[in-house]
Amino acid sequence: MHRLSKKVGVFMTTNVAKRSTATQENGAPDTTPQMTAWPVTTKTDEQVLDYLIRARVKLLISAPFFGTIATRLKFIDASKWCPTAATDGKNFYYNKDFVAALQDKDEEQVVFLVGHEVLHCVYDHMDKTRLGKRDHQLWNIANDYVINNDLVEASVGVKIDLVQICFEYKYRNMMSEEVYDDLFRQAEEEGRVITQQTLDVHLDGSGEDGEDDSPGAVGNNDGTEGPIKYNKEELDQISNDMQSAVLQSARATQGAGNLPGGVKRLIDDLLNPQLDWHELLAMQIQSVIKSDYTMLKPSRKGMDAGLYLPGMDYESTIDIALAMDMSGSIHSSMALEMMSEVKGIMEQYTNYRIHLFCFDTEVHNPQVFTENNMDEFMEYNIEGGGGTDFECCWNYFKEEGIVPQKFVMFTDGYPWDSWGDESYCDTLFIVHGDGYGGQTPTAPFGITVPYTREK
Ligand SMILES: [Zn+2]
Repeated sequence: MHRLSKKVGVFMTTNVAKRSTATQENGAPDTTPQMTAWPVTTKTDEQVLDYLIRARVKLLISAPFFGTIATRLKFIDASKWCPTAATDGKNFYYNKDFVAALQDKDEEQVVFLVGHEVLHCVYDHMDKTRLGKRDHQLWNIANDYVINNDLVEASVGVKIDLVQICFEYKYRNMMSEEVYDDLFRQAEEEGRVITQQTLDVHLDGSGEDGEDDSPGAVGNNDGTEGPIKYNKEELDQISNDMQSAVLQSARATQGAGNLPGGVKRLIDDLLNPQLDWHELLAMQIQSVIKSDYTMLKPSRKGMDAGLYLPGMDYESTIDIALAMDMSGSIHSSMALEMMSEVKGIMEQYTNYRIHLFCFDTEVHNPQVFTENNMDEFMEYNIEGGGGTDFECCWNYFKEEGIVPQKFVMFTDGYPWDSWGDESYCDTLFIVHGDGYGGQTPTAPFGITVPYTREK
């Protein structure tokens, strides 16, 4: 029997709902693989690793988007715990005997396997938030259907038939949520027993079981004894890095090779986030902190002085600027909503500085708020009105020597002339105007998000 017989394969109809609660309660997905009976390969470790490297090279040539993402993943022989393959967005775990058997069957099926793990990364399937209250295993199966359809659609390798995989043409171009609903309906309404299994072990990003004493923690954490454990920050970083790699690869390989519809949609979402401005604002400010964490290298300042200092210490301060464009019809209630949002975000941190000002053709009432005078923040006096000149904000920064890590401008989106200095700092435009024909004006640089009133 070739299949890994994870105990999850079978869904009794009535159990589906019950299982969802069960998975909810202990938070542990069923990813405990049973060792399977792949014939023990006579190939050396190097030979098997070489199969994977060759598959990756083939991808670089035939499907460069997949190839470039695959290049980011580190191959780790995980034969001790992983019956087929798995990924956490940083590593590609594989079972040596499985890869050898796949290679024996058809080299192009190894290419398919690498493509499969790449798409789990691209779609960030390790992130549990999208799972919601769904049954974990059924969700895993839905994800595999989506991925395998995508690979066939984009002609990435040859569809694996060494083992049975989740594949049905009818799920073509569907999202995981839609496939899940269909599977759930089949199980719930039609009483079908769902016996499909995922091709690989689906890690959920919290180590094996989300607890510190999970199997991932045993051994030397090099991935050979269990998936490498990462803490929350590292996981967020892995996910962010992957997201930017997806964008970069998509740009770099534009037009080269066929991208599955799902990937195109995803890239479009990443480039044009349809996020609510509250979420985007929080995300943008948090990204400032995150990029600081990645600089856990010696700071340049310290190096000049011949000292070795960590790039971020408890002294480090989040520095943002918030400007209110007074030219448009800004209601004070809108300004207040905006400010209380910023306040809420900043108060999660211990050291911060907010340069707050209003502007029309010049800057009015600039004030600096820190954790020490934050109680006065909401009493800030909104001043100005009349003409408009976005440039005055950047001129003010330059004159005062302020370089905010993030500049948030609250505006109706009608600069008289230029939107500002695009190379000066990271800018987020929250636009409250309706624009021409109901289209929110979009800044030529930075990120634009429409402001909508709370209902
Ligand atoms: Zn999978």
